[in-house]
Amino acid sequence: ISFMVEPIQRLTHMSTQLQEGITGFQRFMEMMSLKPTIDNKPNALMLREVRGEIEFKQVSFRYEDHLNYVLANLSLRVQSGEYVALVGPSGAGKTTFCSLIPRFYEATSGEVLLDGINVRDIDLRSLRNQIGIVQQEVYLFAGTVMENIRYGKPSANDDDIITAAKHANAHDFIMNLPNGYHSEIGQRGVKLSGGQKQRLSIARVFLKNPPVLILDEATSALDNESESIVKESLESLAKGRTTLVIAHRLSTIRNAQRIVVLTENGIAEQGTHDSLLAGDGVYAQLYAKQFEL
Ligand code: ADP
Ligand code: MG
Repeated sequence: ISFMVEPIQRLTHMSTQLQEGITGFQRFMEMMSLKPTIDNKPNALMLREVRGEIEFKQVSFRYEDHLNYVLANLSLRVQSGEYVALVGPSGAGKTTFCSLIPRFYEATSGEVLLDGINVRDIDLRSLRNQIGIVQQEVYLFAGTVMENIRYGKPSANDDDIITAAKHANAHDFIMNLPNGYHSEIGQRGVKLSGGQKQRLSIARVFLKNPPVLILDEATSALDNESESIVKESLESLAKGRTTLVIAHRLSTIRNAQRIVVLTENGIAEQGTHDSLLAGDGVYAQLYAKQFEL
């Protein structure tokens, strides 16, 4: 099931590009002809206990058929259980960076390692089972709330699903739906708010219980009220997991153990919120920009 995420990502990207007009259309055609190049190696490794340490070693990446490198010689190590924020201007490559970990794309050169193992050597399903992703866009399908949460771990029983929903702050609103967990969502079913949908996607990840977590603009599309409850769910989700969080609103990442600032020229600086503000570099500028109204 996790294999579906990649085409979905392509589709999301395509629809953004479509809005860009003619050049967007050309790129759309390019992407339609993309062949799936990412596959298991013979004798690919099945992971057992994963600590969730992530390391990028001199990673460069460009999208197939594109000349420009999105990432060039980038090195970064994230400790097991660390909470790291990735910030920087739009287009800097934050989402691309994260997509190399579950191998939605492969590094053009250099190595991406999970627990010291090159992700290319790991069985794809086994790799992706270690990684939970919460994005801005939530993908729900026509079916019940229960079925939609179960997507996070197809073998889960109903009790596991309810527990996951409770952890995600979703149980109460689900119980208030006309048929509770058996309410249909989708075109002919109940309509959910953005924050409710996001909490279902968080419940999926609680159910999956992966050691590594990627939060890519997970609260960006939400209004302030739903943002605060979703943020709470995300904070509890991140506990005990290696977490990479991308956030546009810098207020949401202040408490990160480490903030890494990514620009078109690579990692510009890294440190805590306070040390970066004191440093008066790119982060301090981004921060000042966001708060001058
Ligand atoms: P960020 O998440 O920091 O905003 P992205 O990783 O989305 O940045 O994008 C980095 C660069 O890569 C941008 O120039 C973007 O247009 C380009 N890009 C992103 N996805 C694709 C893709 N699937 N194909 C080609 N170019 C892409
Ligand atoms: Mg992005």
